[in-house]
Amino acid sequence: MADPVISFRQVSRVFRAQRGDVVALSDLNLDIYEGEFVTVVGPSGCGKSTALNTIVGLLEPSTGEVLFRGKPTVGICHEVGYVTQADNLFPWRTVLENVTFGLEMRGIGNKAERQERGMALLKRVGLEDFHSHYRHELSGGMRQRVNIVRTLAYDPKVILLDEPFGPLDAQTRLQLQDLLLKLWGERRETTLIFITHDLTEAIALADRVVVMTARPGRIREVVKVNLRRPRDIYTIHTDPKFREIYDKVWAHLADEMRQAVA
Ligand code: ADP
Ligand code: MG
Repeated sequence: MADPVISFRQVSRVFRAQRGDVVALSDLNLDIYEGEFVTVVGPSGCGKSTALNTIVGLLEPSTGEVLFRGKPTVGICHEVGYVTQADNLFPWRTVLENVTFGLEMRGIGNKAERQERGMALLKRVGLEDFHSHYRHELSGGMRQRVNIVRTLAYDPKVILLDEPFGPLDAQTRLQLQDLLLKLWGERRETTLIFITHDLTEAIALADRVVVMTARPGRIREVVKVNLRRPRDIYTIHTDPKFREIYDKVWAHLADEMRQAVA
């Protein structure tokens, strides 16, 4: 296999607090490869978001290191996109202006080129007619579509997604999963690391599902999802192989959840 694009090497992270330290991550080791779609599941509070934050440099590991193409992840933010549950769209910018913002910041193309690229992406997600709308005029699903395409717009090598579809209803979630799979699947060059608490979502999307332990978070198991691609997000769960993988992932997760409350 090619060299990993992101590597966690013996990463730990401690949060110091007056009422006692919280060890969020401990001895986290993981390699993620170019073009992979990796999903991460684990009990609430096990350090999933903390792990992503160390990739973008929002948090530093207490010990160990996070590598981007074999080098410490200092100043790599331009290569890494981050999509969170909160869409963080600028309310004073139109939809199109939100999508072109990342290109502007990176000085990519002239205004007309940026707008053309933005419009092409909005078209892909069925929002071309909403390009001059503002955030407050959009539904939650529409906001999250804009959130995703504005990250795709500047073509980061790695995109981190932290429960991006969490607040959406089940049907909108499926539509956005479908969309994300299609956009990623066209080239399979972008590396996606996607946190979710929805096991069906985790398996339907991923090449590998990473199951984390209860806090302090480590890798409990990495389950390979050897289901054919392209996948039909609406029927993939009926595949007997899917069921098998689901049961396996669930057994690991349930075991960790029991320990988390014990
Ligand atoms: P997850 O995303 O898996 O639900 P987090 O990574 O958000 O978990 O948090 C892991 C642990 O670290 C939790 O116990 C949380 O309270 C603690 N934690 C996270 N961020 C901070 C912070 N900035 N300061 C103090 N404690 C934090
Ligand atoms: Mg989290």
